[in-house]
Amino acid sequence: MLRFDLHSHSTRSDGLLAPAALVARAAERGVRTLALTDHDELGGLPEARGAAIQHDIKFINGVEISVSWNGETLHVLGLRIDPAHPELETQLALLREGRRKRANLMAKKLEEIGIEGALEGATAHVSNPEFVGRNHFARFLARSGYAKNEGRAFDKYLARGKPGYVDHKWAPLWNAVQWITSSGGTAVLAHPGRYRLSESNVLRLLYEFKEVGGEAIEVVTSNHNVRERTFFAHVARRLDLLASCGSDFHDPNNRYRDFRQLPDLPVDLKPVWWNWN
Ligand code: AMP
Ligand code: MN
Ligand code: MN
Ligand code: MN
Repeated sequence: MLRFDLHSHSTRSDGLLAPAALVARAAERGVRTLALTDHDELGGLPEARGAAIQHDIKFINGVEISVSWNGETLHVLGLRIDPAHPELETQLALLREGRRKRANLMAKKLEEIGIEGALEGATAHVSNPEFVGRNHFARFLARSGYAKNEGRAFDKYLARGKPGYVDHKWAPLWNAVQWITSSGGTAVLAHPGRYRLSESNVLRLLYEFKEVGGEAIEVVTSNHNVRERTFFAHVARRLDLLASCGSDFHDPNNRYRDFRQLPDLPVDLKPVWWNWN
């Protein structure tokens, strides 16, 4: 049992548990090495690290950076980053500012289809005033009866091509990788099976990712089905990429994305933690 979970979200981004509560849950469920990887935000790391000491589990400083690549939004995880690295901090603050602008535009688009007060509604679900994301809009839309639940709110309003969706320019891929590596971290492409890219474009992406300094891909994640997991295990072997695993935990009521629900990494893959001590 590997008991590594290297992808999770707290209330500092779009998760529902505060950092300390998230660590407590991970420890209770048997995780031994945990990374907190809030979207574009490092503010939860000190609290999580303190809680990890109390629960006697190993804690990894992480982040999940939003990236735009050839018209698609990608997520790049930085593991073992230095949260005090000035460039990383500054750039993430700019990404969060962009989120605020996007949120204004999203609310305007929702207003055009008759949904009033979406910005205030979404903000009511925000616990970190610096961070607003689509999940906060989803919570507002579900609570206000515009959708049966948050997943349906994405399907109806928030997913790409839907009336509340706003195209947004996130960080360039090479910049995001460079902020991570220059702060001492390892860049991991999150859930490669989730992007709307053909198989050949995913491979193109991975070659480019490696070229700019990316080292690993997520193979075992709640965002992959069995076919995708098998495919990306194969890709990791073929392209000599390290492999990572994590639940992408957001919500304690979502039992499919909880800690310790996923299988271990295939044993022949080289794990991203191979040289961590
Ligand atoms: P954002 O970075 O604000 O655009 O939000 C991205 C986040 O929204 C992801 O990390 C997921 O937590 C969530 N998300 C994206 N697509 C969906 C979907 N189809 N259903 C539910 N949650 C989603
Ligand atoms: Mn999220
Ligand atoms: Mn993601
Ligand atoms: Mn995530």
